[in-house]
Amino acid sequence: MNTPFAFHIGDMRRGRSEPRTVAGQAAVDWHVELSRIVPEPPLTFDLELSAVAGGLSVMGEIEATVEHRCYRCLTEWQETVTKAVAQLIATGVEDDEETDYVLDGDVFDFEPLVRDELMLDLPIAPLCRADCEGLVAATGSDLNTDLSEDERVASSPFSVLKDLLDTGD
Ligand SMILES: [Zn+2]
Repeated sequence: MNTPFAFHIGDMRRGRSEPRTVAGQAAVDWHVELSRIVPEPPLTFDLELSAVAGGLSVMGEIEATVEHRCYRCLTEWQETVTKAVAQLIATGVEDDEETDYVLDGDVFDFEPLVRDELMLDLPIAPLCRADCEGLVAATGSDLNTDLSEDERVASSPFSVLKDLLDTGD
């Protein structure tokens, strides 16, 4: 197995007691609905494994850049998310109900764990801001800019936004 997420940790299964750090980075392109983990910059993970009863505890942090698209006005924006990880990898225990992750050989692939940790936090309906008015479906005009002339001048950031939307894909 040759992925940035695969690590030889079989010695910990066989009784190695000192904690071990597994860390790395990976360019992924994972998405749900209107949010996606972008490949550039790559996500990073820094996890410490410790032997505990029944398996290995996984504690650490994952950092990734997420691109969202507002479900009302379709504005896109990016943010960096940091996810604290506290998980358990079972070692050779069948039907373990406390964890989805099992180490049954020498190599463990952390990709499903990292993916789950990040993806479960992504919003199904991202919103650029709490009071986003969205678009008029028929014309594509932005209700956020549907203001009187005086208000329009005062709200130039929205006009800029509208220009971006008009020239966007
Ligand atoms: Zn919006």
